[in-house]
Amino acid sequence: MPIIKVKPGQKVKLEDIDPDDTGKYENKDEANGILARNIKQIAELQNVLYAEGKHALLIVLQAMDAGGKDGTIRKIMSGINPQGVRVTSFKQPTEEELAHDFLWRIHQAVPRRGIIGVFNRSHYEDVLVVRVHNLVPKRVWQQRYEHINNFERLLAGNGVTILKFYLHISKEEQKERFLARLEQPHKRWKFNPADLDERNLWNDYMRAFEDAFERCSTDVAPWYIVPANRKWYRNVAISETILETLTGLNLKYPKPVEGLDDLVIP
Ligand code: ATP
Ligand code: MG
Repeated sequence: MPIIKVKPGQKVKLEDIDPDDTGKYENKDEANGILARNIKQIAELQNVLYAEGKHALLIVLQAMDAGGKDGTIRKIMSGINPQGVRVTSFKQPTEEELAHDFLWRIHQAVPRRGIIGVFNRSHYEDVLVVRVHNLVPKRVWQQRYEHINNFERLLAGNGVTILKFYLHISKEEQKERFLARLEQPHKRWKFNPADLDERNLWNDYMRAFEDAFERCSTDVAPWYIVPANRKWYRNVAISETILETLTGLNLKYPKPVEGLDDLVIP
């Protein structure tokens, strides 16, 4: 199965989704050709998004460690005017963030109209890592799905178009990528032994992801599951979804001020 858009309430079994799938693409060269074209078009549409100033686009990326969030951002945003994109990485909450509700830090990072915002991790951590590690009692994280849906609906009602991508890699692929981090000197710094603890909890994470998809994929903020073992498929599939979404916004440059034709610049 290629990239999947989860329907509201749809039960997802990640086990049944092949992380090696490459959809309609036969090979890397073919996909990369289309990716390059998509990147260019996304950049052009971002320019109109900015000029028009009516919409923002929010892209949420979630994955297991080494799932490819950083690489996705680097690649797909590579054509965009740096002033038009805002990337926010959500780490462990600070003392101040923990002293507020879980959406407090998230809300502040939502892109203003005209901007593409990218979340590298997000409020979903509060029903993923937090749930898997029992960082709050069950009755607290259970309520968060509804809070998240309400929050996302609020954003959508205020001009924010939301796309959420789960980069689906296999446990085996994660191992390969960890090994690459260990072996290649320029990747070594990325290796974090604590990631192995999370790897041990793989199945718990899968259950938590599945629940998040079932409960929080909505018409205004759908979840997409992206087979992501092949980076080239991941990139082209995500770029396509972003491009379709931006195209669907029917963006228009604003009308220029009147009388420009007769204007003489002294
Ligand atoms: P990299 O891929 O480069 O390792 P990363 O996104 O994993 O990037 P890290 O600094 O390694 O960045 O890890 C951030 C950590 O913060 C993750 O383990 C994540 O689960 C954790 N985190 C994020 N949000 C929350 C939260 N709300 N509560 C608890 N932990 C969180
Ligand atoms: Mg990490």
